[in-house]
Amino acid sequence: TDFLTDLNPKLLDSIVEERAIDQEFILKAVAGFGCKPRVAMRPASNRKSQADDDDDILPQPPASEAELAKRPPVVTIMGHVDHGKTTLLDTLRKSNITAGEFGGITQHIGAFSVALKDGRKVTFLDTPGHAAFAAMRSRGAHGADLVILVVAADDGVKEQTKQSIEFARQANVPLVVAINKCDKPQADPTRAMRSLLQFNIVPESMGGDVQCIQVSALQGTNIDALQEAILTQADIMNIRATPKGRVEASVIEATTVHGIGKVTTLVVARGILRKGAVLVGGATWCKVRTMTDENGKEMREAGPGTPVRISGWRDDLPNPGDLIIEAESTDKATKAVAYRVAKEMETKAKKDWGEIEEKRRVAREEYVANRKELYSKGIRFNSTIRRIVHKKNRLTKDLGDDTKPKMRILLRTDVEGTLEAILTVIESYSCQEECDFQVVDFNVGPPTPTDVELAKETGAMIYLFNIDANKAVKTEAEQSGVQIHHYNVIYRLVEALKDELSARLPLKE
Ligand code: GDP
Repeated sequence: TDFLTDLNPKLLDSIVEERAIDQEFILKAVAGFGCKPRVAMRPASNRKSQADDDDDILPQPPASEAELAKRPPVVTIMGHVDHGKTTLLDTLRKSNITAGEFGGITQHIGAFSVALKDGRKVTFLDTPGHAAFAAMRSRGAHGADLVILVVAADDGVKEQTKQSIEFARQANVPLVVAINKCDKPQADPTRAMRSLLQFNIVPESMGGDVQCIQVSALQGTNIDALQEAILTQADIMNIRATPKGRVEASVIEATTVHGIGKVTTLVVARGILRKGAVLVGGATWCKVRTMTDENGKEMREAGPGTPVRISGWRDDLPNPGDLIIEAESTDKATKAVAYRVAKEMETKAKKDWGEIEEKRRVAREEYVANRKELYSKGIRFNSTIRRIVHKKNRLTKDLGDDTKPKMRILLRTDVEGTLEAILTVIESYSCQEECDFQVVDFNVGPPTPTDVELAKETGAMIYLFNIDANKAVKTEAEQSGVQIHHYNVIYRLVEALKDELSARLPLKE
């Protein structure tokens, strides 16, 4: 009986509260049954919660129309393996650097910004698309605005191309297609584009609304056109954000860098991030110490749509995909973190508790089925009882049980725990020698008219613990002469049973 070893603390409390039985008694009773009692940890929610909802920092409501300003689109690149995603990212990165002054020393920080000739910017995520993207969506953070689907002109749509299309659809993010490797002699861009039709992606050149740009990532051909296409798509989507209010951002990468410590790459979603800002993300916080771009260059500020690497995290790092929110003060940040840690623990405790309850439920079902079967066979658990019954049966086979006074009860309790406790105590009685005592039926919940019938048929009394019989049941019981006894204290119920039994025992000579 595994479940007995995990005593329900709620039950323990409720019994203890009655002041009739102390916890020790119950533990002893269980121990007497041959089990090692162990009281399971109760979930935090049952105790006074340490987490105060007001302490958390939540995302701000959407900005008003007047506050919104255009921001760079955030783009992620997807497609089948070897179709040229990495090469395209490198080419895009370089397209920026040749124009810039940083000598091509780029760091891989998970995101980078590309400035076009007219000064407009595009932010590219260079983390492998799916995972980071999915994490963001599930954590309420902002992911990419659009996807560049890379399709090799010499290969067409392949398995991962299909997956990427599926993924973008689910995330409700539009596609711009880059038909890549158009420099190859065996390239057939038209065939590659046609292979997209079966997925309802209709290129503009075929009368549809999906921009397909023929490029060579390796040779850098037509990359300008691809960037233009991205900005056109961004314009159609009217991608905007407010630079006002507290900063919100998404974590793209979180890692520890030698010499700098814990760093994260963020893409700002709203507000303007500056050094010294206090940020909360996941269950940790940060006072921004350094702010750099993908070239390691210090940044003074980062507005919406801008990728930035920051340091200054206390304790832990947040996870990629976490939503970062600025706090008004370090005090508010630490409170929010404490709140989140408490919530996390609570969730975990609830989950653990759920598992314990489920185990207990299964064990209990088996146990009840077992017991009911044993009861129906008239077999008792107590070893002394079993021996006596056995001997009696042999000696007085013909006489049956008629020589003994009978007592039958039907037991109904409020919860399984009390049922268990009462049954355990009942089983420890060894009066079967002189008295034929049987629990005809036991269960959790109030008695029904059927129970009254059963009690009548078997000559049983109904014992209720911590529950009431409704009027119909009471009337029926009265009419059929079935006694209903009601108790709220286990030991009183047990005493009453003892008294009843004693009254029925023949006087000893
Ligand atoms: P990924 O797996 O999608 O990231 O693909 P890669 O960028 O690693 O490219 C796979 C191979 O295709 C590499 O050998 C690239 O050099 C090559 N490749 C990528 N783009 C082009 C292109 O535009 N033209 C040609 N000829 N080869 C390319």
